[in-house]
Amino acid sequence: MESKRVCVIGAGPSGMAVLFHLNRQIKRNEIEVVCFEKTSHSGGMWNYDWRTGRWRSEGDLEKWIRFNTVVRHVRYDNASETFHVQVEDLAKRKLLSSEAFDYVLVASGHFSTPNFPDFPGLNQFPGRVSHSHDFRDASEYAGKRVLAIGGNGSWSEVDAIVFCTGYLHHFPYLDDNLRLKTSNVLYPPNLYKGIVWMGSNGDGSQNGGNRLLYIGMSNLFYTITFLEIEGYWAVKYIIGEVTLPRKQEMVDEWKLWVERSKKIRSVRGVPPFQSSYMRYLSDECGYPYDVNVDDLFDEIISHKYGPNQGIITCRDMSFTSKFTGNKSPPKKLPFMEEFDDSLEGFVNVNYGQRGSKL
Ligand SMILES: Cc1cc2nc3c(=O)[nH]c(=O)nc-3n(C[C@H](O)[C@H](O)[C@H](O)COP(=O)(O)OP(=O)(O)OC[C@H]3O[C@@H](n4cnc5c(N)ncnc54)[C@H](O)[C@@H]3O)c2cc1C
Repeated sequence: MESKRVCVIGAGPSGMAVLFHLNRQIKRNEIEVVCFEKTSHSGGMWNYDWRTGRWRSEGDLEKWIRFNTVVRHVRYDNASETFHVQVEDLAKRKLLSSEAFDYVLVASGHFSTPNFPDFPGLNQFPGRVSHSHDFRDASEYAGKRVLAIGGNGSWSEVDAIVFCTGYLHHFPYLDDNLRLKTSNVLYPPNLYKGIVWMGSNGDGSQNGGNRLLYIGMSNLFYTITFLEIEGYWAVKYIIGEVTLPRKQEMVDEWKLWVERSKKIRSVRGVPPFQSSYMRYLSDECGYPYDVNVDDLFDEIISHKYGPNQGIITCRDMSFTSKFTGNKSPPKKLPFMEEFDDSLEGFVNVNYGQRGSKL
């Protein structure tokens, strides 16, 4: 039997979840895997600067990753029923000839292209204007009046502006008929199971033969487990242990989930929705871990949005892990008084020696 070729775009948590499960599930020579990653390392947003550790995972997953290689173009050829993927070798600044794949998994994230709205007069503002994407350290803002744009409606004189206006789903490398167009919602449209591309019309036509898969496209609440389950489902589908129903059922199903998501009116509705989505996937693909995280969600919600709590004060609290039973050490300085976001500052100032050994 000829082996299938699988292309994974991006080696962030979504891409690594796919590689991790492919590594465990596939038999020798059954599937050939190539992961294109535009940076020189894996981990995506969890490894974007000196503050975060290198992404570590089981097995030699990097054997499949071609680093410093950015995907420039993906198109689907109906005649040969294959994807053609063209990449650029960033080290050599060279566009390479395209390669054919049976499956393409889009795992390039949606929290890296800032949504930067323009306002009249903004170009005349004399202070620093930035997006939360570029925020690393609060110390440059100490003592300043800072306008954080994200929930606005009043006038004030300020020294600096930070746009907290979110990110755009941006897939410039995909042909238009393959490109997911959505804002940051709980269940993006045109994706069966939140994963299988159903085409721009959502009806299963012009969709890359049910073999274009998106991982991690929802608004994320319980991130890593969520991405892991999607990766597991996708791998089970690729190896044939999960099968698709008839096209109309797929269409009806994604529409139902979008309708359900639109009925959510407050943040309290998010956890039950997202945990039921995770169970919906895990029940079908036999994900081997407990995904009942309702109690965790409840705790987060009650601390962040409860009557005597808040999104700021909950950061000063110390929590006990559901899985290890360990309680985090209390912080020395309240979140709002701590301007140094460096690793050294975070560990030594906030937690002292005990923290530095963690
Ligand atoms: C400032 C910030 C803080 C965050 N903090 C948290 C947090 O505390 N907790 C949390 O759960 N989530 C957080 N998130 C959300 C975070 O994005 C997700 O947790 C997670 O990183 C999503 O994983 P991903 O693999 O889908 O995307 P990413 O982590 O963005 O990884 C995508 C990968 O694809 C690569 N890539 C992109 N385009 C191409 C291309 N054309 N060719 C080849 N490679 C490509 C990128 O280089 C990257 O390595 C944060 C996001 C931001 C922006």
